[in-house]
Amino acid sequence: MHTTLSGKEPSNEILEKIREKTSAMAKPPRLAIVLMGNDPASEVYVRKKLEKAEAAGLKAILERLPENAKEEDVLTLIDELNNDDEVDGFIVQAPLPKHVDYSKVLAAIDPKKDVDGWTATSMGKMVTGVKTFKPATPLAVMKMLEHYKVQIEGKHAVVIGRSNVVGKPLALMLLEKNATVTICHSKTKNLKEHTKTADILVAAAGKPGLVSADMVKEGAYVIDVGTTRVDKRIRGDVDFDAVIKKAHCSPVPGGVGPMTVAMLISNVVEAHESSG
Ligand code: NAD
Repeated sequence: MHTTLSGKEPSNEILEKIREKTSAMAKPPRLAIVLMGNDPASEVYVRKKLEKAEAAGLKAILERLPENAKEEDVLTLIDELNNDDEVDGFIVQAPLPKHVDYSKVLAAIDPKKDVDGWTATSMGKMVTGVKTFKPATPLAVMKMLEHYKVQIEGKHAVVIGRSNVVGKPLALMLLEKNATVTICHSKTKNLKEHTKTADILVAAAGKPGLVSADMVKEGAYVIDVGTTRVDKRIRGDVDFDAVIKKAHCSPVPGGVGPMTVAMLISNVVEAHESSG
């Protein structure tokens, strides 16, 4: 029988350990989330992050900006958060409205508070193997593999997706653990030829149903990062019901999502500890 790689139990374990740690702290670690506009999916994700952070003993605050706020308003708020000694780390929830240049926003974040690990400084450190905050979603995938004791060294890992926040950093993290890594993307020809040879297959394309059972090797570990809203339901990239018959597979929802939140919270606690 193949294992359903649930993210619920491992994320609860991680959050429980964090709660024990924070309960012994003089002051709770403090996370701020900047939310611009009213994107319904972002509202849900942000609420989850705030709830889970509070339950883990952190202080979590929401900084709202209206959809029509100016770019300079976002940059001013970031400057305030950078200089607020009470705030250990903060994130700016993506996506932002089109009139705001996300690269400028990222460039304004103090890397010491970059608990999403998305700034160029954090990315550069990661590439060069210097200790830094790592992006929560790829970190979540790595923690899932660790939790389910999946051997990575010497294995062929195929990552579908090459975004700065998921595919690219994940490929690097797998490489660091000595996998042989193939990165597939929207211009890859014959996707199935690559995925069929994967011992570890991670789908992060945001295309529901992209990965069918015939694209997966028997006994492989398949991690589904995709989250796409279809008829009010969240769907992953993988045809879970078919794939689980031949490989180990993470569900959506209940897989990488809860682990991602746990990794973000873990980064905030680290920021708090290193700010001493
Ligand atoms: P993105 O749109 O920035 O990148 C998608 C990537 O997939 C691109 O590199 C593209 O080349 C590739 N791609 C698209 N169609 C493809 C196809 N048919 N074949 C092969 N490759 C294809 O998205 P992202 O920010 O990297 O996120 C990816 C998915 O993961 C989305 O569904 C997103 O919602 C989800 N996500 C989930 C979490 C979580 O916590 N569970 C966190 C972040 C992102």
